[in-house]
Amino acid sequence: MAADQRVEHENEDEQGYEYVETVVIGAGQQGCGAAGALQERGREALVLERGEIGQAWAHERWDSLLIGSGNQSVRFPGSDYDGDDPYGCPSGPELARVLRRYAAERGLRVRQHTAVRKVECLPDASEHADERFRTHLASGGVVGSRNLVAAVGGYAAPRTPALAADVARSFHQLHSRDYRNPGALPDGAVLVVGAGISGQQIADELAASGRRTFLSVGRHRAWPRRYRRRGIQEWLQALPPLYEEFGAAGGDGGPVLPGLPVTAVNDRTGDLNVGVLAARGVTLVGSVRAADGGTLLLKDNVVATAAESARSFRRAVDLIDTVLRERGFAAPEENPAPAVPLDGVSDFGETLDLARHGITTLVWCAGPSRHRVGTRAKRAVPPGRRPGGTALNYPT
Ligand SMILES: Cc1cc2nc3c(=O)[nH]c(=O)nc-3n(C[C@H](O)[C@H](O)[C@H](O)COP(=O)(O)OP(=O)(O)OC[C@H]3O[C@@H](n4cnc5c(N)ncnc54)[C@H](O)[C@@H]3O)c2cc1C
Repeated sequence: MAADQRVEHENEDEQGYEYVETVVIGAGQQGCGAAGALQERGREALVLERGEIGQAWAHERWDSLLIGSGNQSVRFPGSDYDGDDPYGCPSGPELARVLRRYAAERGLRVRQHTAVRKVECLPDASEHADERFRTHLASGGVVGSRNLVAAVGGYAAPRTPALAADVARSFHQLHSRDYRNPGALPDGAVLVVGAGISGQQIADELAASGRRTFLSVGRHRAWPRRYRRRGIQEWLQALPPLYEEFGAAGGDGGPVLPGLPVTAVNDRTGDLNVGVLAARGVTLVGSVRAADGGTLLLKDNVVATAAESARSFRRAVDLIDTVLRERGFAAPEENPAPAVPLDGVSDFGETLDLARHGITTLVWCAGPSRHRVGTRAKRAVPPGRRPGGTALNYPT
């Protein structure tokens, strides 16, 4: 039996109790990475996964999803990318396969189809006690442990704005988490709401499939995936000021979508951003502020939003140039420097009559809610430190 399918009950006693030094909940990048890091130090860890290894990538995202941070960003303790396409964008199932291979090659103890129902912190256990946590499984068993790593995914729970309830029921509505491909939607034009990486990728795919596509834009950033012959992930690792910019608020101090704002066009030929989408035939409309049956009330902010996104792109490029210059690092220059093209971007107005534009479906890409587990666990990465070994968290 493959290591990733191993069923491990050797430590379990008759009452369904077993003990392991460290329980890791979730077999995504973070969970497998944490288990791999512990194994490298000769420590024992058991990963509990409600679905399969790489569940979210393999089964809970749309079919054509591309991992914009690229092959090279998917690294694990003791295992760097060794293929010949470091900047290529893997699909979700491809990334899930990388995870399964890593778990199998390392012989990580992963128990799949084992959902955790609850975690108990034992109130009287001292910091040095062997058993400080009890992890209760949905199947009824209990795993005692000294350490607990909650790696359940930061962005697993879909969030749809309350105003979606004010859209007439005749329109088909779904969250990006439930979107799979254009063919699974009713005929007609589609409004994608949200210009983060999910919204942009889905709008791009819909337009490429021949659907009339509208994209409602909200505040977001855009960065180049590659600049001066390096991936953005490499610059983030090498240039701390860029990492600070990554964690900072928008240029005007306002909130922006968190996460690494890089993504690729559907056919993997280049970067994707709202300017590129406008050029590819997607109609950009302003942020949705209210709904009334078949009419959406919008902010008239397409140009302003795209311009701010273009500025965030420029800031990232300038920052890389400045730090390279200051430190005397050699990297081939790019002339002209890449930029978000704004030629095809124009304001749309303050209302969108869905039926008049033939819109039958709304796809909400408003980002996820933060996922919670029923305990307080120690942070895997202390605040202010860069995560090493696994890909960055990257929300929609
Ligand atoms: C559209 C989209 C695009 C993204 N693109 C990128 C990208 O390009 N680059 C990048 O670095 N990141 C990207 N991300 C972010 C990406 O999700 C994270 O980087 C990465 O998946 C985080 O890994 P994780 O292990 O924290 O979470 P996940 O991969 O979500 O893993 C969490 C695991 O926990 C399991 N789990 C949850 N609850 C329980 C429970 N109660 N019991 C047992 N198991 C449980 C889940 O089944 C899941 O397998 C993207 C995210 C989205 C949504």
